[in-house]
Amino acid sequence: MKTKTFTKKLHRYLIVVINVGMAGVIVIKSCFSSMAARLFVRLLLCVLPVFQPALAQDELSPSTWSLPGELPRAFPPTGMSLARLSTGITHRSAGFACAGGSRSDPRDFTMTAVLVRHPRGDLLIDTGFGRDIDDHFHSMPWWFQLITTYERGMSALDQFAHAKYDIHRLRAIILTHAHWDHVSGAADFPNTPIWVSKEELSYIRSGEALANLAKGLGDARFTPYSFEGGPYLGYPRSHDVYGDGSVVIVPSPGHTPGSVTLFVALPDGSRYAFIGDLVWQLDCLMQERERPFVARWLADSNPAQVRKGIEHILSIKRKFPTVKIVPAHDAAAFSQIPQFN
Ligand SMILES: [Zn+2]
Ligand SMILES: [Zn+2]
Repeated sequence: MKTKTFTKKLHRYLIVVINVGMAGVIVIKSCFSSMAARLFVRLLLCVLPVFQPALAQDELSPSTWSLPGELPRAFPPTGMSLARLSTGITHRSAGFACAGGSRSDPRDFTMTAVLVRHPRGDLLIDTGFGRDIDDHFHSMPWWFQLITTYERGMSALDQFAHAKYDIHRLRAIILTHAHWDHVSGAADFPNTPIWVSKEELSYIRSGEALANLAKGLGDARFTPYSFEGGPYLGYPRSHDVYGDGSVVIVPSPGHTPGSVTLFVALPDGSRYAFIGDLVWQLDCLMQERERPFVARWLADSNPAQVRKGIEHILSIKRKFPTVKIVPAHDAAAFSQIPQFN
């Protein structure tokens, strides 16, 4: 009991220290050279993991979610399929991806778009890095650029052109959420509508730094949808894109206010859950680990909601182990899906 109280106090103390530290970064940034700020940020990022054990998470409780006895019915049409398009990577570490991970365990975060072929119009789930990724990256906040290095690959548009895929077959781009790395490629498809939840559209309009790129695409690009459908796998509301259960979107807020998960059913009986950035790497999910404190603080709009979302998807995986969970930046999880060609 005493240990728990001490840990809580230490937790609060460290939050103050971290906030003061970040305020210091901003002061230094505005008063001194960018070199000084760069050194300060890197020093801070080296020091913070030392405190990680004291900021350890409580146990997750996936068993508290009540789920239906079987997977929802789906009638995916013949000819429906999935293909992945890798468009680049960012260099991260396991220590950045999940609590308790090692900073010396390098993890390349894949930036992947997924093509859903459907007789009633194709979809692109997220877009990865676009042709103008270098400009897009440099439009990001300075602190984000300091902690991020990336390698560009071939954009989704160029991969489509190379394979002579007719982009007019695309009915829409659906974003798991509106962060820069999911939106960059959307700029290459000026005539394709981008579907987002109403909550995410409000977030885009808010001008929050990590969604500024989406805002820059212009309001007219976005078509909001609502969750008019009933409960789906324990989620209170849903949106069935084709009305056949093959692509069903559910709200999964927290990483951003309007983040979603897409459940996809294929004619061969396989099922996928595209969970966006609920977690970045699949092993974090399977080991029941959230993002580390610093990453939650930097990347999540509402860490408590993310935690609930992780518990929910874990409970689905436990009850229906055949559902393939695909975090947006995990190359191994994407390897289950054929590469686009
Ligand atoms: Zn994100
Ligand atoms: Zn992301």
